[in-house]
Amino acid sequence: MTYGLYMHIPYCSGRCAYCDFYSTVAQAVPEGYIDALLRDFERFVPRDAAGVPLRPATVYFGGGTPGLLRPAQVARLMQAANPLPTAEVTLELNPEQATPGRLAGWLSAGVNRLSVGVQSACDAQLRRLGRRHTAADAARALRLARAAGFNNLSGDMMLALPGDSRQAIDETVALLAAETTHISAYLLKLERGTPMGAAPPPGLPDADEAAELYRCAVDKLAQAGYARYEISNFARPGFEGRHNLIYWDAGNWLGLGPSAHSCLSGRRFSFAANLPAMLRGASEPVDEGELEADDYIMLRLRLDAGLDEAALERRFGRRLSAGQQALLSQLATADLATRTLGGWALTTGGMLVQNEILVRLLDL
Ligand code: SF4
Repeated sequence: MTYGLYMHIPYCSGRCAYCDFYSTVAQAVPEGYIDALLRDFERFVPRDAAGVPLRPATVYFGGGTPGLLRPAQVARLMQAANPLPTAEVTLELNPEQATPGRLAGWLSAGVNRLSVGVQSACDAQLRRLGRRHTAADAARALRLARAAGFNNLSGDMMLALPGDSRQAIDETVALLAAETTHISAYLLKLERGTPMGAAPPPGLPDADEAAELYRCAVDKLAQAGYARYEISNFARPGFEGRHNLIYWDAGNWLGLGPSAHSCLSGRRFSFAANLPAMLRGASEPVDEGELEADDYIMLRLRLDAGLDEAALERRFGRRLSAGQQALLSQLATADLATRTLGGWALTTGGMLVQNEILVRLLDL
């Protein structure tokens, strides 16, 4: 079995105004959390018939803020994970955490890809978002990462911020394109339970304006050499994120840490968002049932490569129904879907209304 390993680091140096990810405020990751991750890894790692742990094809330190991990902590986790020599090993960080010492340490611990939370090239936007860095910090972090020897660098940017504009998108793409091989571009979503969700800032784009900003970002990113391969993800050729592609292809992955999700051999499970329970060795997986054909269709339609009907049949023993084929043909007429060699994909217009399309499609 090929699988990816995700390790959630539920600590952040402060909370951003828009974020509902599970994390607690701390300036460092306690050693007890590394012990807990290692304990859970030992319990849940997939093994071969002889009981030997399988080596992951990808490792992803996500969060929260893995940039708070000391290199020695990453080294402990990597030693246990024992990834394949060809593994993609990604660590997420915020720009203010990129110091030459940490970058060199993460690299020698085996990290070969960084994902930097840049978000915007506008300092006023960054302040509004509650970020703890400036655009200059972000540019510096990317330069330092390159200089340290990371040649696979991803950067996050946010779209549809208050007062967002084509020019603002241009500036953020330019900042990122100077050093990165991969860009994730997310539309700001107001989440319940966040400060921004409770008191939305003035000047937020409406749905039509947000759609226009997304289209603008897709164009700008293409001009800068980044092809979209998933709704929110863009890469220079050959730099698509291998770990996240496992999720979208409904492959195997083990997610460790509070709030992490897993799917192994078609069985999905998750861990409760309960850090204290994990720290005292009481993390228990919650069964989330079998991965089904509808999940696969939903995931694959996020990708530009789309849904391959032969793969659907091979994995789930079923084909798209006549009703589903008819709906997709109608959507193609409206330029919301397109026929591919082996199946169907959504166009940019289709991706913008993906939820509505999926509700109709999966009801047929
Ligand atoms: S956006 Fe990142 S740094 Fe900010 S609170 Fe969420 S997980 Fe933490």
